[in-house]
Amino acid sequence: MASMTSLTNDLSTAEQITTADPTTTPLAANGWKADTQPVGHDVIIVGGGAGGIGLAASLLRREPALQITIIEPSEKHYYQPAWTLVGVGQFNPDNTVKPTPNLIPATVNWLKHSAIAFDPENNQLTLSDGSVHRYKNLIVAVGLKLDWGGIEGLEETLGSNGVTSNYRFDLAPYTWSLVQKLESGRAIFTQPGMPIKCAGAPQKALYLSCSYWESKGVLSKISVDFDNAGGVLFGVAAFVPALMRYIARYKVNLTVNSNLVAVDGAAGKAWFAVKDGDGQISRVEKSFDFLHVVPPQVPHDVIKASRLGNADGWVEVDQKTLQHVRYPAIFGLGDGCSAPNAKTVAAVRKQIVVVAENLLATRKKLAPVTEYDGYGACPLTVEIGKIVLAEFGYGGKLMPTFPLDPTVPRRSAWILKKSVLPAIYWYLMLKGREWLARPRKV
Ligand code: FAD
Repeated sequence: MASMTSLTNDLSTAEQITTADPTTTPLAANGWKADTQPVGHDVIIVGGGAGGIGLAASLLRREPALQITIIEPSEKHYYQPAWTLVGVGQFNPDNTVKPTPNLIPATVNWLKHSAIAFDPENNQLTLSDGSVHRYKNLIVAVGLKLDWGGIEGLEETLGSNGVTSNYRFDLAPYTWSLVQKLESGRAIFTQPGMPIKCAGAPQKALYLSCSYWESKGVLSKISVDFDNAGGVLFGVAAFVPALMRYIARYKVNLTVNSNLVAVDGAAGKAWFAVKDGDGQISRVEKSFDFLHVVPPQVPHDVIKASRLGNADGWVEVDQKTLQHVRYPAIFGLGDGCSAPNAKTVAAVRKQIVVVAENLLATRKKLAPVTEYDGYGACPLTVEIGKIVLAEFGYGGKLMPTFPLDPTVPRRSAWILKKSVLPAIYWYLMLKGREWLARPRKV
C-alpha cells in the first residue's frame, strides 16, 4: 500500500485543490476542529463495498499508476445478494463474506475509518479518528442505512422469537432454521416503503420459504401473509402476472399499502399501518409464529447532514453521468446515490464503468464520455430451482441480457444466480474485469 507521506507530497501537484483555512470551513462552523493539517490524496473513495472496491479496480485497469485511497471501516466485505439463498439453505453463508484487505487492490491505500463529515467546497472530509483529508477527486459509495430502529420493538427481538431478516448476514441462517422448523401456524413476510436495495428481496424470501414448505407437504397448514407497504406487488408491471401466479399457487394473503410499524416478539404480535382506498390509515394487529422483516432503508446520516445530498439525503448525481450535480470533482454510485435505478449489485456493476470513464475524462478536462441507462437486475426466486430474471432500466424499460422471454421462470436463471453471479462478483467485478458491463457512449 502507498505510504501516507508520498500521498501528501503528491498532493502538491493536484491542480484542483484549493487552499482552505480549516478554522473557517463549514466544518468549523458545525463545531468541528481540525487539530491536524489535512492529509492530501489524489482520489478518495468513501465506502469499500460493491461499488467502492469495484470502482478502484476498474480505475486501476485504466490507469495503473493512479493513487487511490479507500475509506472503509469494516474488516469484512459481504456478497449480499446470496443472503436470500442462505435463508432457504441453498447457499453457504461463509461464501458470502471475505476479509476486506484481501479484496482491496494492492496499490490502494486503505484507511480503516468512517467518513463523518464532508466539506465539498474545500475538497476535504473528516474521518472518525478526527483526521482531515483533502482530495482532488472524491467518489461516494457508502450504500444505504438499514433503519431497524424505524420499527418499534424490532431491534429487541430480531434473531429470537421467530423474528428474522435476510437483510443481515448473521440472521439469514436464522431464517433457514426457522423455515425448517415451521410446520403449521402463521408466517408473515413484510416489505417497507421504497426505495430499498433489491426491491424483490422481500418477496424472494416469501416464495422460497413457501416453496420449501410446499416440498415438505406442510404449506397447507401454514397461513402465509405478505404485507407490502407499496401499492403494487412489483414496480415493473411486466413481471406482475408471473409473480401473481406464485401468490395464488402458495395461497399467500397479499395486502398492499400495509406497513409494519411495531413488533412484540415475545407476544408473537405485529402491528401494521394499513392505508385504505380513501387514504385513511388504520392500525391492524396480527399474530405470528414466523416473521420475516425487511427494514426501512434511508440515506446515511453523514450524507444527510452534508451538502452532498438531495432533499431526501441521497448523494445528488446526474442520473446519466453519475457526476455530482453541484461539485464536478465528486461522483457517486451504488445504493447511496440519487439515480432512480433499482438498487442492486447488477446496477453497480454497470455504474462502475460509467464512473471510471467519466472521472478519468473530467481529469483530462474533457466532458463525461459515457452514460448510465439505469440498468438493474432482480433475480426473482419464485421457487427453489427457478427464477424470473427481471432486468430493467430507467422508466421500467425491459433490458434482458439473453434473447428469451424475461417473464418466464427458468432453471437457467437459477443456475446463473446460485453459481455464476457470485463468481462474476468476486473474480470479475471486484477485479476490474467489466464483462457485459460496457456503457453507452455519449
Ligand atoms: P454496499 O455494498 O452496501 O457497501 C457500502 C460500504 O460503505 C460498506 O462497506 C460500508 O461499511 C461503507 N460505509 C458506510 N458508511 C460509511 C462511511 N461513513 N464511511 C466509510 N464507509 C462507509 N443485488 C443484486 O444485484 N441482485 C440481488 O439478487 C440482490 N439481492 C439482495 C438481497 C439482499 C438480502 C440484500 C441485502 C441486497 C441484495 N442486493 C442484490 C443489493 C446489493 O447487495 C446492493 O445493491 C449492493 O451491495 C450495493 O453496493 P454499494 O457499494 O452501494 O453498497
